[in-house]
Amino acid sequence: MAVRIVEEANRCLQCKRPMCQKGCPITTNIPEVIRLFKENKMTEAGEMLFENNPFSLVCSMVCNHEGQCEGHCIRGRKETPVHFSAIETFISDLYLDRMAVERKPDNGHRVAVIGAGPAGLTVAIKLGCEGCSVTVFDAKDRIGGVMRYGIPEFRLPRTILDRYGRQIEKMGVRFRACTTIGGALEIHDLFRDGYETVFIGTGVWRPRTLGLQGESLANVHFSVDYLSDPSAFDLGENVAIIGVGNSGMDVARTALRHGARTVRMYARARHITASSDELAFAQLEGAEIVYCKDVVKITEEGPLFRTNILDEEGNIVGCEEELDQVHADSTIIAISQGPKNKLLLTTPGLECTETGLLTTDENGMTTVDGVFSAGDVVTGSKNVVSAVAASKAVAESMMRYMEGLEER
Ligand SMILES: Cc1cc2nc3c(=O)[nH]c(=O)nc-3n(C[C@H](O)[C@H](O)[C@H](O)COP(=O)(O)OP(=O)(O)OC[C@H]3O[C@@H](n4cnc5c(N)ncnc54)[C@H](O)[C@@H]3O)c2cc1C
Repeated sequence: MAVRIVEEANRCLQCKRPMCQKGCPITTNIPEVIRLFKENKMTEAGEMLFENNPFSLVCSMVCNHEGQCEGHCIRGRKETPVHFSAIETFISDLYLDRMAVERKPDNGHRVAVIGAGPAGLTVAIKLGCEGCSVTVFDAKDRIGGVMRYGIPEFRLPRTILDRYGRQIEKMGVRFRACTTIGGALEIHDLFRDGYETVFIGTGVWRPRTLGLQGESLANVHFSVDYLSDPSAFDLGENVAIIGVGNSGMDVARTALRHGARTVRMYARARHITASSDELAFAQLEGAEIVYCKDVVKITEEGPLFRTNILDEEGNIVGCEEELDQVHADSTIIAISQGPKNKLLLTTPGLECTETGLLTTDENGMTTVDGVFSAGDVVTGSKNVVSAVAASKAVAESMMRYMEGLEER
């Protein structure tokens, strides 16, 4: 591994106008990181990565590199691109425990963060290091959000999140577990208790439903529920998955690792929404894709499908008359998520879009003064790096807002 990443670093052309950096949603200065790496300046390289993206270690493992940095590498035009993700993993992994956590002296500002996913934790890290007193609230018992309760362990080991937890604690950030805001405590209680700003990073945790008969049967589950604790489910040997996105691929691979023998994923047409990497892994591990199937209802036996007919361009132009009853011990619905509405129902003035996503201005402030937001709850299902990039900017706005309060 070490030899290969050295070779990879040596392949970097140190482009003057680095396309890799352009392709990165958080504009990581890849040539500079590689230069520091090659000069054995590992701490400086780690610091540079962490400063720009506190979750660089996670991103190095779970980003869609083929569509981002590596997909834009100039070398990739004629041969394989520089495998920066492996270099980033090496540097960030080394740095995570070595970093000297630097927290500025207490500045007297108090911040409440709702949600311990990458969005909320980025705000907590940035404002904690600025000297703010930060409390993070989460409905779950541990930090991480989807990084812990969605992305499977075999793609992102939980020990990494535990290591983050220890460093975040050193930044003076306090974590209040198993506390749903919008339940016993509401946002106005947080202001009552002296928090000057509130950040909402609650993500999207409400599974989208098919709206079809059979969704409440005992052997039918939603992907986010299953992935949050796969060991709590006994799916049986034959599993049907409705949906062919990245979540569906995670469900398939997890189910196969938990004893399922046949896992079939059903697509409406020929298009697969998952990245080609995720699809390849799922197929390598034994998942099968069945195309042109539209679920009509789900029975105790398994899903009942209509078979779509496609034209040459792959558009659905009709369907066959006969229905196809599939036999599956369990059916998992993996067709994305939307936001829950607890905070909307309990916070007067908090506005959202038609789909329930929070409305924010250019500074990330919601329609309630002092309440900011970023991440999936604003953009809809996206990815870790986008949640971090947006929250980093919002943390700066929150700081400016609190400094402005002093002058009022
Ligand atoms: C199965 C799956 C696999 C994925 N794989 C990848 C991947 O490989 N790479 C990638 O980049 N992205 C991936 N994503 C997407 C990525 O994880 C998300 O875009 C990202 O986690 C969003 O971050 P967030 O902080 O906005 O929300 P989340 O990570 O969802 O965190 C929100 C947190 O808020 C908490 N919360 C919610 N409501 C409340 C409340 N009222 N009170 C207190 N706490 C609350 C939740 O418990 C949760 O911990 C995946 C998503 C899923 C579902």
